[in-house]
Amino acid sequence: MLIYGKAVSADTRIKLKTEVEEFEKKQGRKPCLAVIIVGEDPASQTYVRNKIAGCAEVGMRSLHYEFADGTPQEKIEQTVKELAADDSVDGILVQLPLPKGYDERKLLSLIPDEKDVDGFSPTNLGLLAMNRPRTISCTPFGIMKLLESTGVSLKGKNAVVIGRSNTVGKPMAMLLLNADCTVTVCHSKTQNLAEITSKADILVAAIGRPRFVTEDMVKDGAIVIDVGINRVDGKLVGDVDFENVENKASFITPVPGGVGPMTITMLLANTLQAAKAKTE
Ligand code: NAP
Repeated sequence: MLIYGKAVSADTRIKLKTEVEEFEKKQGRKPCLAVIIVGEDPASQTYVRNKIAGCAEVGMRSLHYEFADGTPQEKIEQTVKELAADDSVDGILVQLPLPKGYDERKLLSLIPDEKDVDGFSPTNLGLLAMNRPRTISCTPFGIMKLLESTGVSLKGKNAVVIGRSNTVGKPMAMLLLNADCTVTVCHSKTQNLAEITSKADILVAAIGRPRFVTEDMVKDGAIVIDVGINRVDGKLVGDVDFENVENKASFITPVPGGVGPMTITMLLANTLQAAKAKTE
């Protein structure tokens, strides 16, 4: 069965819109997300456009800062500092990756933990590791919602995550562990990968290699989550060989239309949550 991320995302946005309206009624202002982009990378520009459009869709305010590649880092830092100090701004997002030459870690460190709606800060990642989540990285957070939508209990399931990035693989593994799965994290140095993945009840592929996960790597009846976004001959394909794996999986996410649509929706959810947290 297909897990329709688009549909889950649309439902979630409808609920968010209502919650945003309630927030505005009570607080007399809209939740606000500030998005900063540096350079002209077309994929990043599209992501930013979609984030801004997402804010409008659920009735949130958004601020959009564009800097040309080559803008001194100090100038961008100054903007982040101003947004950090601005009480009407609830979330700050710096679109990654930054062009070469910028100190990404330093720039991100200027975003206060409470406004880190990407969930990338060491504190937010640490809280997740301690099973006291505050802001959860948007893509893995969205994947948990997709898993929830299947109605399958995760308790005690064997989960395998391929990929150990700080933004996807690691927080994904922590979320699955917090949901009582038995978790294995694989990466480029993993030996006997197929042997490990073929024991997974839940298999998450966050690698960045087109159609990497083949049929022989998947257990019969597994839930397969494809995070990958790869462009092959102008077409978007995931990290899973969908056509062949589809027959073996009990549930599978398509690319596009699976994990992707959930990521921005969870960013909006995180922004609303950050706005609400200020009022508590
Ligand atoms: P990343 O930082 O490049 O991490 C890729 C991971 O895959 C690394 O941990 C790497 O291992 C592992 N890997 C690479 N080759 C491997 C191999 N042959 N066998 C096993 N593991 C291997 O990428 P990312 O940011 O996590 O993103 C992963 C994919 O998800 C990309 O396609 C990205 O575009 C996509 N993505 C999608 C969304 C969405 O909203 N749908 C959001 C974020 C990312 P090492 O650590 O050993 O190098």
